[in-house]
Amino acid sequence: MTFFPDKTKRILIVEDSESVIALLRPILESATDLPVDSALSLAECNSLLDKYPKQYQIAIVDLGLPDAPDGQAVDRILSFGIATIVLTGSLNSSVHARISAKPIVDYVTKQTPGAMAIVQQSVQRTIRNMACKVLVADSDPANRAYIKSILETQCLRVMEVDSVSAALQTVEKYRDIAAVITTYNLSSMGGIDLCMKLRANFPGTKLAIMGITGEGNDFDGVRFFKSGADDIIRKPFLVEEFVSRINTRLDYLDSLRTIQDQANRDYLTKLYNRRYFMEAGNILFGNAKRGHVELMVAMVDIDLFKQVNDKYGHDIGDQTIVAVARTIAGEFRSSDIIARVGGEEFCIIAVNNKATTEKMERLRKQIVSLAIPINNQEPLHVSVSIGVTSTLGESLEEMVRLADKALYKAKQSGRNQVVLS
Ligand code: GH3
Ligand code: MG
Ligand code: MG
Repeated sequence: MTFFPDKTKRILIVEDSESVIALLRPILESATDLPVDSALSLAECNSLLDKYPKQYQIAIVDLGLPDAPDGQAVDRILSFGIATIVLTGSLNSSVHARISAKPIVDYVTKQTPGAMAIVQQSVQRTIRNMACKVLVADSDPANRAYIKSILETQCLRVMEVDSVSAALQTVEKYRDIAAVITTYNLSSMGGIDLCMKLRANFPGTKLAIMGITGEGNDFDGVRFFKSGADDIIRKPFLVEEFVSRINTRLDYLDSLRTIQDQANRDYLTKLYNRRYFMEAGNILFGNAKRGHVELMVAMVDIDLFKQVNDKYGHDIGDQTIVAVARTIAGEFRSSDIIARVGGEEFCIIAVNNKATTEKMERLRKQIVSLAIPINNQEPLHVSVSIGVTSTLGESLEEMVRLADKALYKAKQSGRNQVVLS
C-alpha cells in the first residue's frame, strides 16, 4: 500500500561494511522517500544521534561493530525509542537468544540470499505498521499485556479490551482497525462469539481476525476457523511465528486496498477515473438531494492542447496534463472528487462551495501562471476553459451535462475563461 512518511523523519544505517551501506542506501531511499544517514561505528552513530536526536524513524544496525562488538549500538539506538532492525553476520542459538531479548522490530542475517530485499520489506512494513491500528481482545490482563508488547514492538498501534461487547464497540467506533487478535476463552467462549459477530459485519477483505488457542486442544482452533477467523495460533508459540502471521495478514489487506485504489485511479495523474467519479459522485449527489447541501460540478478542459502535442511532443504533453491535474487537486479538499475524464479534460464535484465562479476563476489563473519547463526553450504556458454549475438537477449526469454545455460556451467565446451555467 502507499504510505506517506513524515518528511521530517530520517533513516539510519549503522554498519561497518561500506559495501553493505552502498547496497542498502539506494534501496531504503527509494522505498521510504526519506533521507538516509549512515555510520560506520558506534562513535559515528553517537554523533548522528546528537545531531538528530528525534528524527530517526527507523535504524538498521549491525550487531557487531569494531567499537561495539556486543550489540551496544543496538542498545544505544533502542534507548532513543527508534524502531530497530538488526543485521547479523550469522545466526545461532546464542545470537538468537541475545537478539530476541531486545525489543527490536526484526533481524536479518546478512548471508541470507536476498537479505537487502528483506531489509527493505521490513522497513516498509514498519512504516506501514506505524499508522496501523490493531485490537487485542482478551480477558486476562497478563495475556493482553504480553500480546500487546509483541505488537507494539512491531510498531503497531495497539488498543486493548477485556470483553466481547467492548471489542465490538471499539471496532464500530474505530473503523480503521485492521486486525482483531482474540483468545478462545475471552470470558467463557467469548472469543468464538466475538469472531462470529465481527465476521457478520466485517468481511475478511476489510478486517483480519486472528484467534489464539490454549495448549493441547485442536478443536478450539477448528471452532475459530469455522467461526470466521482468518488465522489461528496455538500457545506456546514462537514470537517470530506470531509476528510473521499477523504481518502477512496485514500485508494481504494492504495489497487488496492498493489494487482497489489503482482500479479507481488514472495511471498518469493519479486522479480518480471516470468510473469512480460517477460511482462516488452519485453518493455525494444523493446526500446533497437529501440534505440540501450545495453541490458544484465543473468541467475543465485544456485549451488547444493538440497544438502542445504537435509542437512539443507527447512527453511534454503528458507533463502538462500532470501539472494541470496537480494544480486542480491543490485547489480542492480531499472530500471533493476530482477525476480525469478524458485526455485533457477534468471533472470536479465539490460540496458546499459558495463562491463557485470566484473559486474556478482562481483555479484558471493558477493554471495560466504555470510554467512547464522545456529543454533549451522558454517554458510552456497553457490555459483552460471551465464550465461550472451549482444547479442541483435530477441527477449527477444532468449536472455534468450542464457543466459540459457551459464549457462548450467558454470554448466558443474565445477559451481561457469560466462560464457559469
Ligand atoms: P480545445 O481548446 O477545443 O479543447 O482544443 P484541443 O486541441 O485541446 O482539443 P482536442 O480535443 O481536439 O484535442 C485534445 C488532444 O489531447 C488530442 C489528443 O492527442 C490529446 N491527448 C489526449 N490524451 C492525451 C494524453 O494522455 N497525453 C497527451 N500527451 N495527449 C493527449
Ligand atoms: Mg482541449
Ligand atoms: Mg478535450
